[in-house]
Amino acid sequence: MEDMQKMFQYIAGREDTLIMIWSRTEGWNTASHKCRVLKDADYTHLTLFDLEHWAHKDDQSTFRIFLSQLQDAIDGKPTSITGNEEKISVPVRLLSAEDTWVYHNINCWLERENESIVRMFVMTEPLDTQEIHRIHIAETFTSDRNPALVQKQAMEIIHAHPEMKFAVVQFDVAKFKMILADYGEKTASDMLNFFVATLKVLCNNYQVYSRLSADVFMIITPYTDEQSLYDLIELLDKHLLGYKGIQYRIVYGICYIGDLSRGLRQYGDAAAMARQSIKNNSLQKVAFFQNDLKKNISADKFIEDNMKKALENREFVMYLQPKCNIPDGKVIGAEALVRWIMPGHGIVPPNDFVPVFEKNGFIIKMDQYIWEEACKLIRKWMDAGITPLPISINVSRRHLSNTSFVDVLEQLVTKYEIPREFLEIEITETVGESGIAESMTRLKECGYTLLMDDFGSGYSSLNTLKDTQFDVIKIDRSFLNDFVSSGRGKKIVEHTIGMAKDIGLGMVAEGVENKEQAEFLQNCGCTTAQGFYYARPMPAEEFNEKYIVNS
Ligand code: C2E
Ligand code: MG
Ligand code: MG
Repeated sequence: MEDMQKMFQYIAGREDTLIMIWSRTEGWNTASHKCRVLKDADYTHLTLFDLEHWAHKDDQSTFRIFLSQLQDAIDGKPTSITGNEEKISVPVRLLSAEDTWVYHNINCWLERENESIVRMFVMTEPLDTQEIHRIHIAETFTSDRNPALVQKQAMEIIHAHPEMKFAVVQFDVAKFKMILADYGEKTASDMLNFFVATLKVLCNNYQVYSRLSADVFMIITPYTDEQSLYDLIELLDKHLLGYKGIQYRIVYGICYIGDLSRGLRQYGDAAAMARQSIKNNSLQKVAFFQNDLKKNISADKFIEDNMKKALENREFVMYLQPKCNIPDGKVIGAEALVRWIMPGHGIVPPNDFVPVFEKNGFIIKMDQYIWEEACKLIRKWMDAGITPLPISINVSRRHLSNTSFVDVLEQLVTKYEIPREFLEIEITETVGESGIAESMTRLKECGYTLLMDDFGSGYSSLNTLKDTQFDVIKIDRSFLNDFVSSGRGKKIVEHTIGMAKDIGLGMVAEGVENKEQAEFLQNCGCTTAQGFYYARPMPAEEFNEKYIVNS
């Protein structure tokens, strides 16, 4: 190997260079014992991995990531070291025999057979002042101080490689402010510096990274297909998450780079929009920008990859929120609300996954699962000789286009031998939904109580009350919050309640959070409420203990 010869020539007689060899058959071997590079090092046993002890503390994380990349490459795991790369380098300050910090490049040559690494040659090489200067520039370059330079460098790479496709990946730490609040400024900023150090090592020669603001980073990267971008994200997650055991998520927005006549910036902005579109959803970590933001297709992949297994593993859990009688605060029923208890992720609220399930149809299976959980609980109460409280279940609109879901419900009540009065049905009314009338008629024929969910939000209107088949309206919390405070709003709530009463509809006010709201509702004639003022949704066991067993 010509390179190797050059390397040995270079090293001959030098005292400031260290060389180490690793081979799959023999492991580590230090080749040069004479070099006095490191203070007090035992060269006969030194390996690349020991070098960390001689690295400057500010360079240690960079170095450690470099090592873990090499280890992964040795183990055949995916790394950012591309399949054919021959040499990788990282600049690190090492403690010299003279007790000073000297910038070295740690160069590692990789020899492969059939794509797996069989030998590595590592050589440290002191850098000259010009190179050190370059490192400092690069450091500035990768901070927020010099976005123009980053763009310029990226443009150069893109123009030099017309055969490659490129994308902008922008990411930030979700709820970074909470990390700041919980761990303080020093730790938060150390964490972001660790990000920079990590990116420095992870990014290969075709990738340009930069820090745009405190916790926002960007990588301009080549890609082959969508999967290759997901692979990059996996790699980033693997190395960036869990700094000092802190729990956080990273959210990614991606935009493919196309026509460059108007520069790169528009693609960065688009990636930012994609990222922001999923910021508040704890389950979505990747969004791709596609032309028009409205068509921004959020990456539901994570949810879709996990949902079936979650159902099998019983990760969906029924929570119950009491419905209370306002005058005496007595619990008179409950609503079943799903939670996804995801291992390693905590409790995920339905707004983060129900919309995805509604899109991909999985909601049908998940709903049925929760309905069955509700039926089981009612059965359990009956078996214990307790008169059950009615539980209302949510029926997604996805079910309503045909009546087969009614058969599912019927099978459940038959299987668990439950009087239908204990299972109530919540449906969000939407104008002009086809098939809904037929479904409702069937439900009524079977004898279920129907609740119109979220009344006052979206499409449901006073008009729908006129010839409705619903028995009860659930007054939406937005209705309550926004209106109750103003005089006019109060009148609307008042009259809605009056009118519902007139036509014989039952009512539940949702989202009651304080005493004033409860009193106001009671004065208007609405006596049932559900909301944090009374209780938050809770696991069924807790509900049992609080309201059933000890009542
Ligand atoms: P929803 O059916 O209107 O349920 C009421 C939501 O309001 C619940 O949110 C509940 O936790 C919340 N809430 C109750 N009281 C208060 C309050 O005082 N203040 C505030 N700010 N919020 C309150 P949750 O559990 O996050 O559910 C959100 C929505 O997800 C539900 O709205 C429902 O549309 C859907 N969902 C929940 N579970 C299921 C399910 O099993 N199947 C289907 N298809 N949808 C479900
Ligand atoms: Mg509901
Ligand atoms: Mg509601």
